[in-house]
Amino acid sequence: MKTLRSALTLASLACATLFAALPAAAQDRVLNLYSARHYQTDEALYSNFTKATGIRINRVEADDAGILARLKAEGSASPADVILLVDAARLWRGEQDGLFQPVKSAVLEQRIPAQLRGGETAQGTQWFGISTRARVMVIDKTRLKPTDVDRYEKLAAPALKGQVCIRSGSHPYNLSLFGSVLDAAGSAATEAWLKGVVANLARDPKGGDTDQIRAVASGECAVAVTNTYYYARLMKSTRPEDRAVVERTQLVFPNQADRGTHVNISGAAVARHARNRDAAVQFLEYLASDDAQRMLADGNNEYPVVATARTENPALMALGRFKSEAVPIAKIGANTAGVQQMLDRVGFR
Ligand code: FE
Repeated sequence: MKTLRSALTLASLACATLFAALPAAAQDRVLNLYSARHYQTDEALYSNFTKATGIRINRVEADDAGILARLKAEGSASPADVILLVDAARLWRGEQDGLFQPVKSAVLEQRIPAQLRGGETAQGTQWFGISTRARVMVIDKTRLKPTDVDRYEKLAAPALKGQVCIRSGSHPYNLSLFGSVLDAAGSAATEAWLKGVVANLARDPKGGDTDQIRAVASGECAVAVTNTYYYARLMKSTRPEDRAVVERTQLVFPNQADRGTHVNISGAAVARHARNRDAAVQFLEYLASDDAQRMLADGNNEYPVVATARTENPALMALGRFKSEAVPIAKIGANTAGVQQMLDRVGFR
C-alpha cells in the first residue's frame, strides 16, 4: 500500500511538471482528490468518471485528520482540488479553518437535501453530504431487550451500569452523536447524560466500532454504539466467527418514537486553492448522480443521500427502514466544539 501511495505521489508530481507547461485547458483534465474514503469499491466510481469525462483522478489517501493537517501545511501551494471526508465534525472543522471554497451548483442544490450540506454563503455552499450512515446500538440478545436501549438517553440509565461499550468519546463519530444529543437536550442535560454514560462503561474506551460489537458478542458488554456499515459488514461476512457475532446480537435504531436516529455523513468539498475548479464541481455533481450514489453507498454499506438513487444492499434491506433525525448536519458539526469541553469535564476519554 505504501508503495502504491508513493507511486501515486510520484505520478502526480510528474503530471504537475508535465502539465505546468501546457495551456489551462489541458490542465483541466486532471483532478487532484484528497480522500479519507479508502474502500476498494470506490475505484469503479473514479474510473467511471474518467470514462465519462476524460478527466483523470490523482488520489491522495489519508485519514480525515491527516488530510486537514496536510491542507493547512500546504496552504495556497496545495494541489488539492476535491476533498472527501467521512464525518460532519471534520467537515465542520475544515470549513472553520477556511480549507474549502463555496460552490454554487443547481444540480447539487436540487439533488442533495439542504439538511446534509455545510455552511451557506452568498458565494455558495461549503460542502455537501454524499452518503449517510446511522449511529446505532447493538445489543446482546441474551442480556437486553431492544426497549432497554431504544433511546440514546438510556445509555446513562443506572440499569446499564458496567454494560456499555463505546469507542473513544472524542472520536469524530461520537463527537457528532453527542452534538446531536446536545441539540435535542441542551448543555446541562447533555453533560449530565455523558457523565452517566461514563459511569456505565464496561471498560475504558478502546478500539473501533467493530471491536465494540465483538465485545458485545464475547459477553464483555451488553450494548455497543456503532455506525451501521460496520454491522452490515459483519452481516455480509461468511467467516464463522462473524456469523456467530451476528447470531448473538441485534441492531437497534434509537429514538424511533421521538426525534429519530442520529445520522452522519461522508461529504465532499472543493479545496480553497483548487486549480481545476470547474472539473472539481463537475466531479461533485457526478457524485450526486444516481449511479455514483449507488456505488458510493453500496461500496461501504452506506445509504445514498439522493432520493432517486436506488440500492439493493441485502444487509441494509434486512435492517429495514428507520426514522432519521431532522437536525441539519452542519448544526451538529458546530456543536462538537462544545461537546469536547464537556467530555474533558466528565472524564470521557
Ligand atoms: Fe468508519
